Amino acid sequence: MANLNVLQPKLLAQFEAIIDRGELSQAYIFAGPAGVGKAALAQWIAQRLFCQNVQEGQPCGQCAECQRVLSGNHPDVVWLQSDAKSIKVDDIRNLKAEMSKTGVESNQRIFIVTDAEKLTAGAENSLLKFYEEPVPGMTIILTTSAKNQLLPTIVSRAQVINFQPAPAQAVIDQLMAAGIAPQLASVAGHLTADGAAAQAMAEAPQFEKQVGAVLMLLRKTAAQDPEAFVMVQTQLLPNAKTPADQKQLLAMLALGYGDALNRHYQVQAPQAFGQAEVIEQLSELSGPVLSRALAAILAAQIKLGQNVTFQSAVEQLVLTLLEG
Ligand SMILES: [Zn+2]
Repeated sequence: MANLNVLQPKLLAQFEAIIDRGELSQAYIFAGPAGVGKAALAQWIAQRLFCQNVQEGQPCGQCAECQRVLSGNHPDVVWLQSDAKSIKVDDIRNLKAEMSKTGVESNQRIFIVTDAEKLTAGAENSLLKFYEEPVPGMTIILTTSAKNQLLPTIVSRAQVINFQPAPAQAVIDQLMAAGIAPQLASVAGHLTADGAAAQAMAEAPQFEKQVGAVLMLLRKTAAQDPEAFVMVQTQLLPNAKTPADQKQLLAMLALGYGDALNRHYQVQAPQAFGQAEVIEQLSELSGPVLSRALAAILAAQIKLGQNVTFQSAVEQLVLTLLEG
């Protein structure tokens, strides 16, 4: 699970205080993009409610109750997680059946529906009954990355908590703590705000090679060296085996030019490639040249989505970058 201290320190502190005061609401919607810790906070709340050894507002993570919550086996913590495209009325019925069994061990119960945008209208209406007949000690949490797809009647009955993505630096710190080299951590942290996804990305065997290949290419385009064109074949293609790798390489190129543009205009912004010498060189190109380069990278990204081959999209891109 995501590290909430890194991802959502403010929300964590808020919910610590809310639970301390016994003011947990009956219904919440945790809204925000993937990877921002929505399910992790729901799980933390469940642990905090049932932990038998809370210390300074934090569940211990060790006691039998915590362990049952963490393993998904706590009878009073019911998750509805579905890999299917939609969550149907039957799923809600099962949840209700599950609910009637629970609450035996304590007077507190918590129901968590993840990816709630997948609820069908029927399922949402069935869920509404929960809201209309509140049961003391029961909390329902819906997590969603598409709040606008929920019925207004569902949203209006819940307290909506908006999750913001963690700043890139928080993700980068997390990756470095996991032993990833600073430059790789920085690039991954700038490519995605999802800590778990960033870590998987940076730990993939091809990632370091991709960063290396992009830096080599940038060195050539910074020097307006026609050899850059050859590098598409020799450096980029071998590291662009899957569509995801291809997208990633273009995104890294965009980060490089973005860094250079910021440095060129002395914008105080976090640099994905840190203090790399090549970014310094690139930043000496003119502002309009750097802006055109970024626009050309964007155009290449769009072409890639339209089934133009990676090789032809990038060769054309490099020619544009070399035009200056
Ligand atoms: Zn505990």
